[in-house]
Amino acid sequence: MSANTIMDEQIATSPEAQTVAPGAASPIIRTEDLWKTYKMGSEELHALRGVSFEIKRNEYVAIMGPSGSGKSTLMNLIGCLDTPSKGQYFLNGKLVSEMDDDELAYIRNREIGFVFQTFNLLARATALQNVELPLIYSGVPSGERIQRARDALARVDLADRMTHKPNELSGGQRQRVAIARALVNNPSIILADEPTGNLDSQTSYEIMALLDTLHGQGNTIILVTHEPDIAEYAHRVLHILDGQIDSDRLSTKGHEHTANLGSN
Ligand code: ADP
Ligand code: MG
Repeated sequence: MSANTIMDEQIATSPEAQTVAPGAASPIIRTEDLWKTYKMGSEELHALRGVSFEIKRNEYVAIMGPSGSGKSTLMNLIGCLDTPSKGQYFLNGKLVSEMDDDELAYIRNREIGFVFQTFNLLARATALQNVELPLIYSGVPSGERIQRARDALARVDLADRMTHKPNELSGGQRQRVAIARALVNNPSIILADEPTGNLDSQTSYEIMALLDTLHGQGNTIILVTHEPDIAEYAHRVLHILDGQIDSDRLSTKGHEHTANLGSN
């Protein structure tokens, strides 16, 4: 019996591991027939029309589709920032609609890191203060807060820009501050909605390299983009059209990854 088999047996039988093992095997995200309908006066607009998919832990998924196809609506649901009009969303095996406000706040603050196209930084706050913000919400004391915010900024290579305000930083640097802010609570899922949409291509590639590193460190990454070359950084591409998934495929990288697993 190999060491691995013994480990597997232990994982399967130890009561402690039993709480971990099912979560590791089951999808971190599962949606079933998600609908989002906006009421505009007397008219109804169906932004999502029955979206079902699963994302496993440490997957790197790009969501693509034309403007208005429902990508941001879907990201807002995945991030628990909004609720579906119909359908079910399971996060880590748990039905999100049955969570109370405290659980939802915890998830938004600790489990998920958000990165937006427009950076969404506080204009009058320094890089350090911007990154400290999620820690203030989660009640981390000041000394530890500053240390963790510094560490997060160092991870995105901005140790020398901590006291700069957003208007004293380049676009790429602002997005890196936003990524540091997304990382500071060590979330397991990173949601990035067109993170390179306001950046030139060289800077975009730097941001994508950073997301690659985070994926390598075990994060689950979901990235919205309408740029095919940016989507190719992901392993899997979900394409959305008119509020429905119209294709779900492996990217070139995803194929390489699968082939490498097979040859081991
Ligand atoms: P995408 O991110 O793919 O460009 P969105 O998810 O932002 O698309 O929007 C999908 C559709 O839903 C669009 O037709 C948009 O106009 C509409 N929509 C999005 N948010 C709202 C809202 N808060 N109220 C009404 N309609 C909305
Ligand atoms: Mg959008």
